[in-house]
Amino acid sequence: MSAPASPASVSNFIRTLIDADLSANRFADRQWAGHPGLAAQHRAGQPDSAKIRTRFPPEPNGYLHIGHAKSICLNFGLARDYGGVCHLRFDDTNPVKEDQEYVDGILEAVQWLGFDWKHGSDENLYFASDYFERLYEFAEYLVQAGHAYVDSQDADGIRAGRGTLTEAGVNSPFRDRPASESLALLREMRDGKHAEGSHVLRARIDMASPNMNLRDPVLYRIRFAEHHRTGDAWCIYPMYDYAHPISDALENITHSICTLEFEDHRPLYDWLLERLADGGHFDRPLPQQIEFARLNLTYTVTSKRRLQELVQLKLVDGWDDPRMTTLVGLRRRGYSPEAIRLFCDRIGVSKADSWIDMGVLEQALRDDLEGKAGKAIAVLDPLKLVITNWPQDLVETCTAPVHQQHPQRGLREFPISRELWIEREDFAEQPPKGYFRLFPGNMVRLRYGHVIRCTGCEKDEHGNVTEVHAELMPDSRSGTPGADNYKVKGNIHWVSAQHALTAEIRLYDRLFNEPTPDAGGRDCKQALNPDSCRVVKAMLEPSLRDASPEQRFQFERHGYFVADRHDSKPGQPVFNRAVSLKDSWGSGKKG
Ligand code: ATP
Ligand code: MG
Repeated sequence: MSAPASPASVSNFIRTLIDADLSANRFADRQWAGHPGLAAQHRAGQPDSAKIRTRFPPEPNGYLHIGHAKSICLNFGLARDYGGVCHLRFDDTNPVKEDQEYVDGILEAVQWLGFDWKHGSDENLYFASDYFERLYEFAEYLVQAGHAYVDSQDADGIRAGRGTLTEAGVNSPFRDRPASESLALLREMRDGKHAEGSHVLRARIDMASPNMNLRDPVLYRIRFAEHHRTGDAWCIYPMYDYAHPISDALENITHSICTLEFEDHRPLYDWLLERLADGGHFDRPLPQQIEFARLNLTYTVTSKRRLQELVQLKLVDGWDDPRMTTLVGLRRRGYSPEAIRLFCDRIGVSKADSWIDMGVLEQALRDDLEGKAGKAIAVLDPLKLVITNWPQDLVETCTAPVHQQHPQRGLREFPISRELWIEREDFAEQPPKGYFRLFPGNMVRLRYGHVIRCTGCEKDEHGNVTEVHAELMPDSRSGTPGADNYKVKGNIHWVSAQHALTAEIRLYDRLFNEPTPDAGGRDCKQALNPDSCRVVKAMLEPSLRDASPEQRFQFERHGYFVADRHDSKPGQPVFNRAVSLKDSWGSGKKG
């Protein structure tokens, strides 16, 4: 497989564990059939050329979010660094919530992040639903071996019998029915002879186990539901805790990495695979489940269900709304795959749940774009400036580097003329203390241009400033010998009014006002930031007319912006603010 190199793969407890596995030669005898399969099929294959096998197993019930990126970078990153492979497996065993749209979205997102799942001639793109037949055969095997039974209690009966954390459960009255009876019922369930909820298949483990997951967990239930891939071929569907370990074992996964909430499920994972290995269906060493702390990111939610709710209630503009921390949203916002991978490297992997500050993600974007994004000038809140001593029709050309750190990227040119747009906040009729920009009598430099002295302003009947007047010092132009004769403290940006490109700019901010909008089960909708999107008509450097969709720029003094990949038209780009130049949330001022 190929995957982008990570700048520094810092060690963590999972790497330590893999190092130990590899130095003990734990996987030395593994064989691979070239596709998922049973022990006998793998034994007939070749020695497995993948040193380790991990997998990323999304459920196709929504678009991936920044939390998934952590899991993707971890699983694909380990495979890359250890000479292994990471499978992409759709965990699509729940027919009700899944959809082809999400399958396509997930494939695109993982590729966009820079990873792929091929290894030699193996595609390694799998669907748990392709294992339905196998999963069912194992269910019959478990019944015949005495490890599972059909329970004919209803849901309430099953719940009541499970007990509590402090009280043991009680055995179902059907627990000891003969295997032949369970088997006959299981086949009838599969054949659609029984109503939903009338029977389930359960593992026979221990109703008194202190671990609730081992109190005869349900393995199969009846669902007359259309599946996005298997249609109506099945009316019984396996539970996650049953399908997942078996999918891992069929795929020869060595390290099955999941989030901490599955820690208590690990004994069931192991129980099931041990029973199937005892039956000769799988060889040891079996896949090993390893848990790590999920990503919680402040000022957002990392749950497909909650993100979906925002989409459905139209509180955002779809899954790829640039305020959403889905991968499609981040992409549209202007995030690069490199920035997201850098973020995942920086936050690392641990066993302790914590919240990561949104500022860490934003800083990763700045750090990635700083050396890459070309500079440009944008006036977001335009105010007219008239240079009164500049001839009416004269147009001259100013130049500036495309990127100060990369002189080889050359110079950009833009015209200067008598009327310019400047930022409204760069003029003050009565300057506050310490204000170095334009005010009557003061001199500033027009960035990449001349020095000007403010001579006054015009106002409308409400007292709003409509036009600022200034005189230009002809011998002060940047890059000429005279420039040094002027010592000015202010340096303001501008664009020529007659040449400027007028464009829509969307000034995005965090979607939520509160650092932990859904902590403790709270309704995150109460914490929505009403000012998370402000749209302005801005005046831009004319060359931005040619910006291509997804091209990123640093608008000087304002931040990083991207040409929107959906709404930009040839010659008429629309820009999204990806991130401001500095983190202004901590100081109480909003970017
Ligand atoms: P959600 O609740 O958002 O739907 P999920 O865990 O149900 O998340 P899956 O599609 O099942 O979504 O997740 C695929 C993989 O991504 C799983 O291995 C899961 O552990 C991992 N994952 C999901 N959310 C996070 C997160 N916030 N941090 C790290 N890994 C995550
Ligand atoms: Mg899930």
